[in-house]
Amino acid sequence: MIKKCVSVSYGEMALKKENKPFFERELRKNIKTALSDLNPDLHFDQSKVFIYTEDNAIAIKRLQKVFGISYIAPQFETEADMNSIYEAAIEAVKFELAREPFSTFKVESKRADKSFTFKSPEISRMVGGEILKAGFGLKVDVANPERIIRVDVRKKAYVSSGRIKALGGMPVGSNGRVLSLLSGGIDSPVSSILAMKRGLQVDYIHFHSYPFTSKRSFEKTKELAEICSEYEPYAMLFSLNLFPIQEAITKNCDIRFTTLLQRRSMTRLAARVAKANERTALVTGENLGQVASQTLAGMSVVDKITDLIILRPLITYDKTEIIDLARKFRTYDKSIEPYEDCCTVFVAKHPKTNPTLMQVLAEEEKMPYEELEDEIFNKLEYFKIK
Ligand code: ATP
Ligand code: MG
Repeated sequence: MIKKCVSVSYGEMALKKENKPFFERELRKNIKTALSDLNPDLHFDQSKVFIYTEDNAIAIKRLQKVFGISYIAPQFETEADMNSIYEAAIEAVKFELAREPFSTFKVESKRADKSFTFKSPEISRMVGGEILKAGFGLKVDVANPERIIRVDVRKKAYVSSGRIKALGGMPVGSNGRVLSLLSGGIDSPVSSILAMKRGLQVDYIHFHSYPFTSKRSFEKTKELAEICSEYEPYAMLFSLNLFPIQEAITKNCDIRFTTLLQRRSMTRLAARVAKANERTALVTGENLGQVASQTLAGMSVVDKITDLIILRPLITYDKTEIIDLARKFRTYDKSIEPYEDCCTVFVAKHPKTNPTLMQVLAEEEKMPYEELEDEIFNKLEYFKIK
């Protein structure tokens, strides 16, 4: 009897040795969460997961947003004997032809069960012969086939007619939890999702300047956090009003230091929220040289604030590369909707590009930033995004 299922293979995770069960556990949790309404049944077998659900098409869509998976394939599962495999191969070809016509193919086989009567090349030849006989009008092209029909013989046999390249990376949660500074722009959603790619579960913190920034701007950031969180099992959004400190900076400090002083306050506050919630690092969308405030000297003055690591996944990316990723992750359209950014409400035309820590500390002395930050922190708001 032929049963339809979906298989996923994992790339980098497969290389783990003694820690593999741990990563598999994390991946299992994340797949189950992503498919929770489809009643999923998961079967792990030698670096592949076979997934049985109520709706394979929806499952395949959702699995394309789960990190730790390198390929996804719809499978026809059957008994591990040649007649059943032929039957499954014909079904797989019919399925693929209905999806998108093709005229050439080849068969590739693997035997995880080495006691199976035939060797892999023999299986491929025999299955290929049956497909040719079946009257689809297809031809074999070993060098450059349009489709590869894959046969995988284990305790059961599996035939797939096409596979989808997935996101790769490590399962979200397998490397810890971090807090990402999320603006409404293009960069920080991309940096948040890249952090997830390396196994980090990401929560978000956004600074607004109400009443200088609108409620709608905050809603937009919340919607961005929701889009980002489609790549992880759960997420929180923290929110703080930076206005009191921005007002004090504008009144008391040298205008050329405005952006840097705001950034130091944001980082100090974000680090406080991170520590109170056991998040072990911060993530930003900063990028070297993109704007005048994003220099090595500027970042170094910000890094001095906290003993938390500040991850900057986009540090070496070109803007065009970041935009390509934003499109791929589907955050771009939301990011380019108009909004007011709290940092651009109060901004200097010519920020200091080569600040020293001494200068910045002297500027901070000019205002009671500790009391102001306490006041801001005490009004922390948070929302469950997922
Ligand atoms: P983005 O596109 O992410 O807004 P950007 O290129 O506009 O980045 P900046 O505005 O200088 O750069 O911000 C650099 C980083 O600082 C952002 O990527 C984000 O991580 C953080 N950040 C900036 N503004 C905010 C904010 N209002 N709330 C939270 N984090 C912010
Ligand atoms: Mg910005």
